[in-house]
Amino acid sequence: MKIRPPRKVVLESAVAKSPLSETLRKNLPAASFEIVDRVRDVSARSPDLLEVVDFHGRFLKSCPGTRHYNCCGYRILNLGTQCSINCTYCILQVYLNQPNLRLFGNLDGMFRELSDFFDQNRGCLHRIGTGEFTDSLLLDPFTGITRSIVPFFASTPNGVLELKTKTDSVGNLIGLDHGGHTIVAWSLNPEEVQRREEPLSATISERLEAARACSGEGYFLAFHFDPIIDYPRWKSGYAQTLDRLFDTVDPARIVWISLGALRFMPELKTIVKARHPASRIVYGEFIRGLDGKMRYFRDIRAEFYSFIVERIRKVDPGLCVYLCMESDDVWLDSFGFSPGRRGGLSGMLDRAVEQRMGIVPSIASPAEADQPASGCKAC
Ligand code: SF4
Repeated sequence: MKIRPPRKVVLESAVAKSPLSETLRKNLPAASFEIVDRVRDVSARSPDLLEVVDFHGRFLKSCPGTRHYNCCGYRILNLGTQCSINCTYCILQVYLNQPNLRLFGNLDGMFRELSDFFDQNRGCLHRIGTGEFTDSLLLDPFTGITRSIVPFFASTPNGVLELKTKTDSVGNLIGLDHGGHTIVAWSLNPEEVQRREEPLSATISERLEAARACSGEGYFLAFHFDPIIDYPRWKSGYAQTLDRLFDTVDPARIVWISLGALRFMPELKTIVKARHPASRIVYGEFIRGLDGKMRYFRDIRAEFYSFIVERIRKVDPGLCVYLCMESDDVWLDSFGFSPGRRGGLSGMLDRAVEQRMGIVPSIASPAEADQPASGCKAC
């Protein structure tokens, strides 16, 4: 995958001399740099523009799950916003009101916040991911942020970092001291869906090759079949991708696989029609879920999930497979159990970390319900 480097970088003066800004100057020699007091929010998209701002909010947040669905108790580490991979279904098109790639330049503040968090919350495991408001590795070839975050997590006794991506930009991960605390994760779909709905992303072959390289470096892996898209050949498409996955990487290196069928805020439909006229994803039959998002009918979702989980079980019956944002009823229909029977979804994922990665916090995670763990201050 060839990532197009930003041609113009606008830096807020407070972070113009930060280590991140210096790295960008070194790695983007052809780009022009401009320093401003404050980056203004604009509505026009500029695919070649990168903004670096002094971020005043909290870097670490709880995953925005809803009380209606089983929540995985994950935390999100925000390093920036927006993404230029431009997937047709991307929810950022609705959620974010600023259209350009933006990075938070005050990474010293982020590391302070993370250190304080781990100091104050020693008792349980913390699964933390960076890929919520942007792709985790999209700009990493230019920022090199993973070269400081991955070793930071290696130094924590109870932290697990998940880097979620649709790129193959893993160059900075090679040779890093990750201490077995980083999971590199890819979102997967059939080739046909990738070509149509994620055209600027790495191909499925490129993603799997990158996963193989990371596995060779001792990283743990995860995969997310999310969003699963309904189309006439979905069974053969997903079966083929699963076969290729298990032909490429050792299932024992995979900590979890998540499944989630397409869901979107109703406002996305107008945006997809205008920005991605060739996409058909918003034209199926949907119902509105309890979280207000449009979803495929329950039977269709359950059929996707049971088909995929059955194929995974044949390869590795012990591999943790979970559903993202689904109710107990859909779990029961698809998997034959609900997370509550297995210590809650958060507990299931903590156990997967313990069993596959061998990370055991000093006090067992108290996640006994379908809610985020509640035994430490932060949860
Ligand atoms: S890779 Fe993720 S964040 Fe980027 S456009 Fe696609 S869905 Fe959105």
